[in-house]
Amino acid sequence: MDTLTAPAAAAEAPRDNRRQAFEANKLSKKLHRQVGQAIADFNMIEAGDKVMVCLSGGKDSHALLDLLLSLRERAPVEFELVAVNLDQKQPGFPAEVLPQYLSSRGVPFHIEDQDTYSIVKRLVPEGQTMCSLCSRLRRGILYRVASELGATKIALGHHRDDMVVTLLMNMFFGGRLKGMPPKLASDDGRHVVIRPLAYVAETDLERWAAHRQFPIIPCTLCGSQDNLQRVQIKAMVREWERQYPGRTDNMLHAMAHVVPSHLMDARLHPFRTLQATGRPDAGGDIAFDDDASCASPDPAPPQTIRVERR
Ligand code: SF4
Repeated sequence: MDTLTAPAAAAEAPRDNRRQAFEANKLSKKLHRQVGQAIADFNMIEAGDKVMVCLSGGKDSHALLDLLLSLRERAPVEFELVAVNLDQKQPGFPAEVLPQYLSSRGVPFHIEDQDTYSIVKRLVPEGQTMCSLCSRLRRGILYRVASELGATKIALGHHRDDMVVTLLMNMFFGGRLKGMPPKLASDDGRHVVIRPLAYVAETDLERWAAHRQFPIIPCTLCGSQDNLQRVQIKAMVREWERQYPGRTDNMLHAMAHVVPSHLMDARLHPFRTLQATGRPDAGGDIAFDDDASCASPDPAPPQTIRVERR
């Protein structure tokens, strides 16, 4: 085992601190750039918006609030932020943690007390996962709160990996090419929901949360678990990423570069009325090339996940 003499250890410590500070600074720049890019690409926040940031107390929503607070300082437009936490009355939920944290950071906030825990416990049979009903109830409450607070946007802490996992879940189990959008109109039709962490890797959020020492509250206080299929696919995506770095970014890039003429949805492409045009098309299909079997696996991921404006 390596041991350091006292003077050598003393010399190492500042070097470690400098390295940590360097890494933290690099991560900070990356996160700010990715969040700023997502906001710009999808026009998520506009002048005069009041953005309600849903803060569960987990690492993702903490990072979302933290990054939006700092981006607001340098944003070219003025907008408001209000943090909202839904206290679902789970046993052991440390109700004082978030108000203390938010007050210490000077963030306007609202805590909504709603005992959804009892409702979910009552309605979901023992042994089944409660997350689906819990999320549905939570969504309805948060939409109501957004209206009461006069929020124009609702920001959620879903990140890149959530988006990719959702795409795969829908393909594997739902038979649809459908993901998790970075911006959408809420199902009650009254709000715009945004996901500013759309380009951010979960591992980066984990590192950021550790660096910033957010007071994390786990979502598993209720004893439930996210559904097993999602857990398995998430593990699969992580393993792919470990083996083939860049694959997750490639999948996200694919979600922003859809080619309807090379899929099978006749509502998106006029297959039925398709005719030869009489003109060569350099971007057209090379009909008899089996590019799927010839493609080299996992080409280098794009440097940035830009959404091209059409
Ligand atoms: S883990 Fe518990 S609190 Fe979190 S979504 Fe599932 S049921 Fe709700």
